[in-house]
Amino acid sequence: MPPRRLLLLSNSVLHCPQEAKKSSEPWLEWCWPNIEDFLGPVIKVLFIPFAPLTSWDEATERLQNVMKTRGNSYQVTGIHQCKSMKDAIAETEAIMVSGGNTFRLLYELQKNDLIDAIRQRVLNDGIPYIGWSAGTNVATPNIKTTNDMPIIWPGKDAALNLFPYNINPHFTRFTMKGFAGETRVQRLEECFRLNKQPIVLLPEGTGIKVDGDKLQFFRGPCINDPVEVMKGTPNEEKPQYIEYKFDHPTSEWINIDIFK
Ligand code: ASP
Repeated sequence: MPPRRLLLLSNSVLHCPQEAKKSSEPWLEWCWPNIEDFLGPVIKVLFIPFAPLTSWDEATERLQNVMKTRGNSYQVTGIHQCKSMKDAIAETEAIMVSGGNTFRLLYELQKNDLIDAIRQRVLNDGIPYIGWSAGTNVATPNIKTTNDMPIIWPGKDAALNLFPYNINPHFTRFTMKGFAGETRVQRLEECFRLNKQPIVLLPEGTGIKVDGDKLQFFRGPCINDPVEVMKGTPNEEKPQYIEYKFDHPTSEWINIDIFK
């Protein structure tokens, strides 16, 4: 069996913290070299734009335009534009899944009965899977660590389970003065307390590359926040945090089972 290949990104648009004046970089700019390198000789890309609440055609066109601007020769098709979604999955050479609302994305994947079809291509055939934000959330065992609101309810929270741990995309330790709601860390620790499963915390401008049983963290050039992993301790009362600080562009390769 070929090794599974995943590229799981925290986010698509990056606001470079050192350049406050600059509003934001173009879509997927910070990680485009990683995407090109990861896709390699792939031509046919199937895009799953179920997460955005805006037009799926426009989301597909947006990705096609990024590729055109970059001079790439990938052929991108939106899955919603295909006669048979399952045939499209069976025939594609790579899958890209966009961000947006994670519940909406999982709802559509379940409604169209696509979970097993995608798993089969990625895990058995080894085709590359790229997800960002919501597209990263659904690559994990379930969507318990999304930041989104359940604006629509998928039958169950079980997701694609291509990657063995939950991920929190857009992770931040930022807290607003005077804000009395739960912080991001408190919410994630609540999830940990009930489920006792490791959670990978991906700040903006970071991602995970998986090749078989190995993983590597990567980040954009202007990002300093470490990737963290929330993990159990022997008494399991409070999770432990493992910090991955590394220079742009990548960390060392590590074994994917290390957090178990
Ligand atoms: N709404 C996010 C996105 O896809 C997902 C998340 O924050 O959990 O952009």
